[in-house]
Amino acid sequence: MVIQPRIKGFLCTTAHPLGCEQDVANQIGVVTAGGKLKTGPQRVLVIGASGGYGLASRISAAFGCASSTIGVFFERPSKRGRTASPGWYKSAAFTEAAHEAGLYAKNFNGDAFSAEMKSAVIDCIKRDLGQVDMVIYSLAAPARTLASGETVRSVLKPIGESFAGSTIDFNTRQLRSLQLEPAQPQEIADTVKVMGGEDWEDWINTLLENDCLAEGCLTTNYTYLGSEVTWPIYYHGTIGKAKEDLDRAAANVARSLDQVSGKAHVVVMKGLLTQAASAIPGMSVYLSLLFKAMKRAGSHEGCIEQTDRLFRTQLFAGEPLRQDEAGRIRMDDLELDDAIQDYVRRYWNEVNQENLEELTDFEGYRQAFLQLHGFDFAEVNYTLDIEPEVSMQVEALE
Ligand code: NAD
Repeated sequence: MVIQPRIKGFLCTTAHPLGCEQDVANQIGVVTAGGKLKTGPQRVLVIGASGGYGLASRISAAFGCASSTIGVFFERPSKRGRTASPGWYKSAAFTEAAHEAGLYAKNFNGDAFSAEMKSAVIDCIKRDLGQVDMVIYSLAAPARTLASGETVRSVLKPIGESFAGSTIDFNTRQLRSLQLEPAQPQEIADTVKVMGGEDWEDWINTLLENDCLAEGCLTTNYTYLGSEVTWPIYYHGTIGKAKEDLDRAAANVARSLDQVSGKAHVVVMKGLLTQAASAIPGMSVYLSLLFKAMKRAGSHEGCIEQTDRLFRTQLFAGEPLRQDEAGRIRMDDLELDDAIQDYVRRYWNEVNQENLEELTDFEGYRQAFLQLHGFDFAEVNYTLDIEPEVSMQVEALE
């Protein structure tokens, strides 16, 4: 079948297997160009391993440190002529490339929040690797089913007062105004339940109880602070409350890890267009302005450049970490550079339909969105009739 992007609102309902493979190859290229790291983890568990920062972290570990990796994700294989989700294609491409390079790589497709998943992963670690020396928690989930069977959902809303902003439609390139009412207390609590630190703590404690964490084990969890212009919807909104909870959880995780002399880090990453970020109201205008300013300054990075820099200059550099007063590692230094933020602040309220292309890098933002789904890669011939079904071995959840 010939696969074309089918975009509805901020969703693209198709994905291209060859483009997703190209994306993974490009990311591997970024890491291998930097050469092998002198030190690094040998056995890594990545929770949320199929997209954005999790996939990039897995590639950094495997191709930068020759790590064995276990990836946990929630993706959809192709069925009855419908394409798979991008994360399925990308994980399949990663696994094939890792195996070709002689690296161990196993995958679990299912709900990372569940006890069933934790127990299946633990069995696999014990059987194949003995223990792991790094756990990267990079989950971005819309909902969480609790042990009671109840499902709670995260929402992206402001807290206390309503939010008025704009968003850009990918299809029509039209700027639309946006008004969001403040979240109810229950919505805030539910968002913290889904995107806060509780499940990270759960994973680490369960892995520890089962003796799956090696001496000196490191764990990371990614957060975002961003620019003051997005604070009303992000940092001071429901998702920000969940992110605040990571700092609380990090202290508990660090205490638990004392028994193996391990470390826990919350890492502040740059704002980028990923599957999860595309759903955040108002982010399209901010990221389009940010991309314009950062590309002009030559400081633009994608997920892989961020994780590569995190591994090489922070986690495994053997140097003091660049941490803030809350102990978080800051990888958003280039995003928050004064000159970059001056540009964003100057034009944040001035972007309109007429000057959109001139003031922002909407074209680059739109390309990032298409590439997220495997489209718009120059190397891929999109007129070819191709098979949407791509197989990947996933481990059983018993
Ligand atoms: P993403 O949407 O690209 O990836 C999310 C991952 O979680 C995927 O692998 C997906 O399969 C997996 N997942 C979702 N629900 C699951 C479930 N129930 N069980 C198993 N796997 C599940 O997201 P991302 O943007 O890379 O976000 C990862 C982390 O990075 C999040 O904590 C996010 O807040 C943080 N972060 C993102 C940005 C950004 O701009 N995108 C910036 C800073 C920090």
